[in-house]
Order: sequence, then C-alpha cells, then structure tokens
Amino acid sequence: MREIDTVLFDLDDTLHDDTTAYLAAARTVAETIGAERGIDPGTLVDAYERAAMRFWSSLTAEHLTHTIAGQRERMWYEALLEVGFDDRALAQRAAARYGVARAGTILELAPGAVDVLAALRAHGCKLGLVTNGFAATHHEKIERLGLRRLMDAFFLADEVGMVKPDPELFRHACRVLGSDPARTAMVGDRYARDVVGALEAGLFAVLLDVHATPIPPGAPQPDAVVTSIGAVLDVIPVARLSR
Ligand SMILES: [Mg+2]
Repeated sequence: MREIDTVLFDLDDTLHDDTTAYLAAARTVAETIGAERGIDPGTLVDAYERAAMRFWSSLTAEHLTHTIAGQRERMWYEALLEVGFDDRALAQRAAARYGVARAGTILELAPGAVDVLAALRAHGCKLGLVTNGFAATHHEKIERLGLRRLMDAFFLADEVGMVKPDPELFRHACRVLGSDPARTAMVGDRYARDVVGALEAGLFAVLLDVHATPIPPGAPQPDAVVTSIGAVLDVIPVARLSR
C-alpha cells in the first residue's frame, strides 16, 4: 500500500475560488469601460475571460520572462479587440483598473481547506504550494489567504523558472521538501497542468474536479478524483493515518 508523507497543492481554484474573484474584478472594469465606450459589460467580461483562459492554458516557461502586468494588458487588449476596440491605451487603463479591483476583492480559502491543511500537518505531512502564478501577484495572494503559516514551501512559476505540467517542477518541489515523489501527492483542479505533470514525475495525483472537463480518452487517469477540497483526506493514503 502506497504511503504519502508530503502533499503539494495548486492554489487557484483548488485552495480558493479564483474564478469568482477574478471575474468580479473584470466585471468592475467592464462596467466602467463599458459605460464610457458603450460596450455591454457582460460581453466584455466574457471576452476577457476567453483571453485569460487562452493565456493561462498556453503558458510556457518563455512567458515567465515577461511581467504579469504586461501580460494582463495584452489580455485586456485582446478582449477589447474582440468587442471592436483596437486601443492599446484603453487596454492599459483597463489593466490598471483591474489590478486595483483585484486588490480590493475579498479573498478567502475554500470551505474546508484550512481543516485539510491542518489535518495533514497534524499527521506529519509536509505541505507545498505549486502554482503557475507569478511572484508579483501570488505572494500577496498567499499572504491574504493566510497560507504562509499553513504550508512549508511555496513554488511560484517565475521564481522556479518552470511551469506545470513540467515534471521537473514537481521533482524540484519534492527535493526542496526532502521527500520522495512516490510518497508525495499533488492536488489540483487542472487535469492537463496538475495531474499530467504530477503523474509523469511519479506522484500520487488527485484531481479536484470543479470544471467537469472530460479527461481525454486513453489518457493517464488521476489516482483519485474529488469534487471538494474537504474530500482530499478521504482519498490520500497518508502514512500515519494508515498505520
Ligand atoms: Mg488551479
């Protein structure tokens, strides 16, 4: 029976509901810009969501040399272009407003997340955060969510110079935490990022299935699937729990 003594977590949409938080900030921007330029706010938010999804789903290590502020501007530029406005100055203003709105949104951990982290630690597990987020935004997020004291190590994409699903990133996290990939679990909401990379590195992969995205036929399956973060304790074979 496999025994786990280290657990890695993704951050966005795993330990907190980032989709709701970022769409709320985008909505604030879209309402202001929309009123100015006669754009329907809902249409602009949808266009921004598509631009953001395109960016995050195509993220590679090469993107890490650019600032997230610059990338945000590009997402807003693409969104505005989609609704008929080819305007870089407007995109710059939208991105700046978005930054302010993000800083003003309430961030909280998903229900049950603190209990899961505390229980794993109480059973002797080391805990790490592995995110494709950037230092410029994610250190603040880690502080605001109160995660700093709850986990042992934090791996941010541009600080480690790697992005999920690179299996080397998962191996790196294991090395830093002094753990063996075979005794380490990874919990995340994105099959292609969190599960594929973790499996390739030899970790126990748990998919938090919040997007209901189908796994491609014939593709490697996660070791476990949960629909809420609280259920993680039921599926990870923690060494001390199984003794
Ligand atoms: Mg995520």
